[in-house]
Amino acid sequence: MAQTPAERVTFVPWSQVTFRRPYDIEADWVLMSTCNYRCAYCFWDAGALGAKISTPAGTDRLASFFDRTGLTWLLHLTGGEPFMYPGFLSLCASLTRRHHISINTNADSVRIRSFAETIDAKHVDFIHCGVHEQQRQLKSGKERFIGNVTLLREAGFQVLASCVMDPLLFPEFDEMWHEYADRGVVLIPKALRGPYAGRDYPRDYSDEERELFLTYSRRAAEFYAGWFSRRGEPPSINPFMDGPLFLRDRPDYRGDLCEAGNRFVRIMPDGAIYRCGPADLIGNVAEGWFERRQGPSRCAEKECPYFCEKYRVP
Ligand code: SF4
Ligand code: SF4
Repeated sequence: MAQTPAERVTFVPWSQVTFRRPYDIEADWVLMSTCNYRCAYCFWDAGALGAKISTPAGTDRLASFFDRTGLTWLLHLTGGEPFMYPGFLSLCASLTRRHHISINTNADSVRIRSFAETIDAKHVDFIHCGVHEQQRQLKSGKERFIGNVTLLREAGFQVLASCVMDPLLFPEFDEMWHEYADRGVVLIPKALRGPYAGRDYPRDYSDEERELFLTYSRRAAEFYAGWFSRRGEPPSINPFMDGPLFLRDRPDYRGDLCEAGNRFVRIMPDGAIYRCGPADLIGNVAEGWFERRQGPSRCAEKECPYFCEKYRVP
């Protein structure tokens, strides 16, 4: 099916993106696995989600590592639930003095108000808020989600709201989507990835489920098209990619050239910096060393496909 004008704005292949924001390197920084939610489809197990948080160093030492590299970083802060990280606001304040951040959150935290009041929105590339509806209902969190998304937007932050399409959600999704949209929070469907309830996603979505997914992705694109065109560079985590690219299978780019190690790295909770996956250690934030690669090299991993699309050499 041909793309609508709004879809053409919200999904531009990275090879065609000409405007780039002023950063040298991006990191997918997994601060910890701990989360206040227990989504059945989460790739962390219950033990990891409930783990006691341990930090590899104080927030000042962590933040100063990035200053000392002499590079400008875009740090994608994720977890777990990053707002639970000890000293998270102070970490964000330190990082945004010289660098840029983006955040992946369930937007359930009471700390979001202080964040909105104290952090410089110009240094926050985007905030991706996942609704995680089954847990949201269990924890009576709908009003907090709508309130926090609205609060962040009103404070000048760029916010995307998405919903992981748990197969159990499809029968009620239409009603749910409208309930949020009527309050100004338009949910972008996000594909489930990996094993879930004895099946493997996205491969095991039915054709009917895929069609519904695409219908709501198109509706959401109408809402977000202006936001995307004002930004220039799309957000690294762009759920509008899921419909065209990730709704049938999980991509496998092993063997392709990729800028990972040079323009992109992954940082794990212990501060270890990997080129991408766990086999290739190239630094440690807490220990203060980083051996940046000098150019592209062959992919040997199967990791988060949003970063693959951004950093794979076409
Ligand atoms: S909110 Fe995210 S990190 Fe937390 S349980 Fe759900 S999927 Fe996992
Ligand atoms: S293509 Fe993806 S999985 Fe492979 S190295 Fe690059 S970012 Fe990592």
